Amino acid sequence: MSYDENQPSARPRRVGRGNLTIAIAALVPTALAGWLVWRAMSGPEDNEPPKVLPLPSRQTAGKPGPAPSPSPPVSSPAATSAPSPSTSPSKGNVSGPLAGKVVVVDPGHNPGNFRHTSEINELVDIGTNRKECDTTGTATNDGYTEAEFTFDVSQRLRALLEKQGATVKFTHANDRPFGPCVDERARIGNKAGAAAVVSVHADGSAVGNRGFHVILPALVKGGAADTAKIVGPSRDLGERIAGKFVRATGSAPSNYVGGGTGLDVRKDLGGLNLSTVPKVFIECGNMRDPKDAALLKSSSWRQKAAQGIADGIGSYLLR
Ligand code: ZN
Repeated sequence: MSYDENQPSARPRRVGRGNLTIAIAALVPTALAGWLVWRAMSGPEDNEPPKVLPLPSRQTAGKPGPAPSPSPPVSSPAATSAPSPSTSPSKGNVSGPLAGKVVVVDPGHNPGNFRHTSEINELVDIGTNRKECDTTGTATNDGYTEAEFTFDVSQRLRALLEKQGATVKFTHANDRPFGPCVDERARIGNKAGAAAVVSVHADGSAVGNRGFHVILPALVKGGAADTAKIVGPSRDLGERIAGKFVRATGSAPSNYVGGGTGLDVRKDLGGLNLSTVPKVFIECGNMRDPKDAALLKSSSWRQKAAQGIADGIGSYLLR
């Protein structure tokens, strides 16, 4: 979820039987607006409009995610079935199209944050003001945590990027008790001299709020925060990720943030304010909505999500 649960954009949309037709009618222009952005940013091969709010198939969404476990998250199947979770940069295919490009992937939150609330509530300097180190993140109603989701998608993303030759670095490897704090997450991308940084999240909004959105840095200046040089390239990165995400997942842009564009601009996120390299967040879906949750819990959908993000990054790096 986003770092600010009280953001005004998280307005609920109630969809009951009586107003279902009206709700669907309202979603059509939303999806079309998102498609226009997607179409504008996609190549000539991308000529199909996205499906509007597709229902999950039995094959991809029938399996509930694991409940939160008191054991260290590194022992979870999701963590062990994917590539090494080390934060060390690792080089993939040296002859791939992304060879020589450094990408930092930031898996949102940490499964241990739930057990370290006092530490993650401590304020850190985000330049423009002071803010909590991090939050616990959200979870589905049956206990699949955002931190598990973000780490799983991040590992899939790493594998896809390395296959194309990129050097990928993580902000954390799920092997620390909590954190890193948002300021440290930003510094990791900066120090790596990353060509692109993507922070992976899922939202925790009201039932009926569906779809993904990419969060872009606003123009801010204060203390160590100065986004003047990254606002433009970050928007380019974010628009390409949004377009490719639609194409890879078939999901529609958010129906509750961004007016159907799948894009939102925020000035309150330390991870963006303190970045000196192009960076965006992606909220892949709403964990508190049962239909979105079914997608987020599906490993095949998570692979598509990672593919969409990787395609967007690749498109940006090869622009
Ligand atoms: Zn989050």
